[in-house]
Amino acid sequence: MSFTPLPGKIVAQVTVTEEDVFYALVYREQAKDWRKFIEYLCDHLADALNEHVYDEIRYLYDAWLEQQQEECPHRRTTVITTGGYHFDAGEVWDDLHEEVHCLDCGAVLTVLTDEDEEEPAEDMP
Ligand SMILES: [Zn+2]
Repeated sequence: MSFTPLPGKIVAQVTVTEEDVFYALVYREQAKDWRKFIEYLCDHLADALNEHVYDEIRYLYDAWLEQQQEECPHRRTTVITTGGYHFDAGEVWDDLHEEVHCLDCGAVLTVLTDEDEEEPAEDMP
């Protein structure tokens, strides 16, 4: 990898509330001493989650790569215009040509011309 990681950049912070614990265990027999169990979790849950963080990062990296390889939905596009106006023997004409490009995958999505304006082609000398 060619980038320099930002040492202090926080990517995720996880907050687990007592309510989360309650719902996680909703189908389990309730602890006889709930408070003691919560204390036990406070001592051990962070370490238990840490054990899995690198695995989850690798899993999500693979999932992200897979997502990138899927067909681009072209959410970000830009219109690129080429050509210009020309003056020739008192006539003004243009060869303006617009293309919609995807900013993410680079695909040319549509080519817009002003042929829709239906100028007779035989006007040119
Ligand atoms: Zn695209």
